[in-house]
Amino acid sequence: MRQVAIYGKGGIGKSTTTQNLTAGLATHLNKQIMLIGCDPKADSTRMLLGGLAQQTVLDTLREEGDDIELDEIMKGGFGGIRCVESGGPEPGVGCAGRGIITSINMLEQMGAYTEDLDFVFYDVLGDVVCGGFAMPIREGKAQEIYVVASGELMAMYAANNICKGVQKYANSGGVRLGGIICNSRKVDGERELLEAFATKLGSQLIYFVPRDNIVQHAEINKKTVIEYAPESDQANEYRGLAESVNNNEMFVIPKPMKQEELEDLMMEYGFLGL
Ligand code: ADP
Ligand code: MG
Repeated sequence: MRQVAIYGKGGIGKSTTTQNLTAGLATHLNKQIMLIGCDPKADSTRMLLGGLAQQTVLDTLREEGDDIELDEIMKGGFGGIRCVESGGPEPGVGCAGRGIITSINMLEQMGAYTEDLDFVFYDVLGDVVCGGFAMPIREGKAQEIYVVASGELMAMYAANNICKGVQKYANSGGVRLGGIICNSRKVDGERELLEAFATKLGSQLIYFVPRDNIVQHAEINKKTVIEYAPESDQANEYRGLAESVNNNEMFVIPKPMKQEELEDLMMEYGFLGL
């Protein structure tokens, strides 16, 4: 069982990319998958569930106490993907990171991590500035990390910060960076920039996902692109991403960049297309 966490700046496309990636792994490569949303927004599995607002683990725990059944918090979605939303603490109270671990421990106790699973994915909010969101790495749950980024400065800044967190826990545990996934914002010279960035980190650009409006069309229809338009170019890209992740053999302890280095890199590549 490979346990994979997807990180990246808020709004960069983690949930969209993760749902399409898991849909590709499930339907194109026949993999058994559990996807655990670790964002208090609880929207990590929405498109796999046809728009169903999943009951979160933390809400269920609050409402029913410890005595809950697995089928209350885990729903079968597109491609047989087992979907869970960890949920969040009451706004303004408590730590979201703590909530993630409570949820994972609950799932373990309930026997959700079955032997037949090929992958468990964690879709995690944030830039690991807060230790809470590093929980799946800290506690040794996820061993494999992918960072979703684009050629925009803030996305790369967040990706670099996330790598600092991964580096910290990689030195004491087994967690490794599997690569950077570019979710394109159509920035000039974006592919070259992200390739250079990944190389500096000692890692790789594992896939370049183009920006395409069909993602919005699928989203409005509450579906992944793979379900909504399986013949489309974008669905092909997501299947390509699934293959790349499935075949990946490059797992490293990242070497984060210094702020000035990162800015120099942006200067060097960011204007290539002009
Ligand atoms: P995150 O989970 O990182 O906060 P989301 O996956 O919710 O981000 O994505 C934010 C928005 O970006 C979504 O509404 C989605 O429609 C859009 N989006 C993500 N990836 C793409 C893409 N490759 N092409 C076009 N739109 C995209
Ligand atoms: Mg999200």
